[in-house]
Amino acid sequence: MKVAIMGAGLSGLACAIMLERNGVYPTIYESRSKVGDRFINGEALFSILTRPINDSISYLSNEYELYLKPTSHIGQMVIHSENSKATINERIGFVNIRGRHELSFENQLAEQVNSELIFNSEKSYEELSQEYTHVVMATGDASYAVKVKNFKEDLSVTLKGATVEGNFERFSVSVWLNNELAPKGYGYLLPFSDKEANIVIAFPDEAIKTDEEINKLWDRFFQTVCSELGQSLKITDQFQIRNYKIGICNAPRIGNTFFTGNCFGAIMPFLGFGQFQALLTGIYAAQDICGLGTYEQLTKPLMKSYEHSLILRRALEQMNNNTYDFLISHLDGRIGSKIFQQSTHNPLKVLSYLIRPFIKKEPRYLRNE
Ligand SMILES: Cc1cc2nc3c(=O)[nH]c(=O)nc-3n(C[C@H](O)[C@H](O)[C@H](O)COP(=O)(O)OP(=O)(O)OC[C@H]3O[C@@H](n4cnc5c(N)ncnc54)[C@H](O)[C@@H]3O)c2cc1C
Repeated sequence: MKVAIMGAGLSGLACAIMLERNGVYPTIYESRSKVGDRFINGEALFSILTRPINDSISYLSNEYELYLKPTSHIGQMVIHSENSKATINERIGFVNIRGRHELSFENQLAEQVNSELIFNSEKSYEELSQEYTHVVMATGDASYAVKVKNFKEDLSVTLKGATVEGNFERFSVSVWLNNELAPKGYGYLLPFSDKEANIVIAFPDEAIKTDEEINKLWDRFFQTVCSELGQSLKITDQFQIRNYKIGICNAPRIGNTFFTGNCFGAIMPFLGFGQFQALLTGIYAAQDICGLGTYEQLTKPLMKSYEHSLILRRALEQMNNNTYDFLISHLDGRIGSKIFQQSTHNPLKVLSYLIRPFIKKEPRYLRNE
């Protein structure tokens, strides 16, 4: 058996680690010159999105001996709407670093890999599939899955963000649900140290079309964050991504090709979280290759979560600022704590069943069922 992994990101490296544990040494092809050679950003893992698993970091180490260090846990989330604010004081997840930082998740995983890593790769999938018995697609985008008609796109997103310097409470994250700042989307602030944080707005491409409009939105968001914190934040780095595709593959495995991470459909449409799912799909693909499970079966729960998440996303798109104000005002206090505190119940799954009949734009994924 000869295994090639295309992409040395979360899913590709997690796959390589699990293969090695079972005596299979893949060759990893990475198009960049180093692991994680891109902008640095803070990302989060929220337990409310991974339940019944509350602590994804301890789950990965207990179940799979995959060790990852976040920069901190999150002990507080402040949710802002136009005229309301809710403060949730619960242990709700973790913040971690991605990209060019030595402690980024991808660099931590690369430390655990012994297989051959080929950088600056220009190998196409077609070439790899000629040379290897198994190919794991882990390129972090859906382009190949789209090309071979194995991807249902549900949403295409714009993300604009910056690394900022200031004074932050590193155990506290903030979220903005306000259509004036991020139409049909959201904004967030994730500190990854006491002095550095990421601020980002994310919204569907269709909501805002031109760069001029995006920049106006960004300026408004930046001013809002500065005035909320009472600080003049200093921008040290900036990024903008258009057409970030959110969707899911039709078949997780075709022949001996495995679609993992974002190629599988790891990003959950509701809030755009995909790290945990990316790691799991890499692990599951390795388990299948080593005869320890069936990829289609192992990924079924992720497909189901995608479906719930898409319903919540469609609901979010229908909300105006008055609805946000109403909901956020009720989240402050006991109700918010109850929803976010560690539990084996998944309130978002329940909510997705409850609101499904009221969704105006039926998710494409459900129509194909
Ligand atoms: C700005 C931003 C913020 C995000 N925030 C969060 C968050 O807070 N929480 C969360 O859970 N998720 C978040 N996500 C989503 C999450 O980052 C992804 O779902 C996850 O990284 C996907 O992992 P992956 O293995 O599919 O791809 P990646 O980890 O991106 O790895 C893909 C790798 O493949 C390489 N590659 C690409 N093309 C080729 C090729 N042709 N040949 C060889 N190699 C190739 C790339 O260089 C890269 O190294 C965010 C995404 C973005 C863009």
